[in-house]
Amino acid sequence: MNPKVHILNREVPQPETQRPSRAEVEAAVRTIIRWTGEDPDRNGLVETPARVTRSLEESFSGYGQDPAEILEKTFEEIEGYDEMIVLRDIRFESHCEHHIAPIIGRAWVAYIPDGRVVGISKLARVIDVYAKRLQIQERMTAQIANTINDVLKPRGLGVIIKATHHCMTTRGVHKPGTDLVTSRMLGCFRDSTLTRREFLGMAA
Ligand SMILES: [Zn+2]
Repeated sequence: MNPKVHILNREVPQPETQRPSRAEVEAAVRTIIRWTGEDPDRNGLVETPARVTRSLEESFSGYGQDPAEILEKTFEEIEGYDEMIVLRDIRFESHCEHHIAPIIGRAWVAYIPDGRVVGISKLARVIDVYAKRLQIQERMTAQIANTINDVLKPRGLGVIIKATHHCMTTRGVHKPGTDLVTSRMLGCFRDSTLTRREFLGMAA
């Protein structure tokens, strides 16, 4: 069992000491290559375990980062600005936890501030922190919304994600062209039909 501490609905990853070493991961990739029937010592494959491990490191870099920390710095000199702020069409790459297959998608994040705003690039970084983990889209949508809501405490917030899941487009049932749409609305985005509709219209 991995000890996981829950703070503000966020999971703090397991300590570094419990992680397998890079050499162990490379050995595991080598096993997979052997399992395919290939010779891992063949010229073209010798460096593959190291390359795959580096690539996995990038794909799962989100475990080493605390999304709340990214949002810590906020700006309060906003002259009473109280309309919707929408960051649209934020591309992300993730991996589904059931097949470790790519999830390629776009996110829309909107909020109505309550006296303070956050740097817009920080919103995009929070999406990447959660995307660069093993995910299911529904949970990722909730995690992004809950974290921004908990830290920024806006009047309301909405997150919409549309993504293609390679576990069903390029394998399994083979249904290319399908995407999955998920959303989470909090505060006035949940309570006000007009606010919700305004946001949904922007993401259509
Ligand atoms: Zn899957």
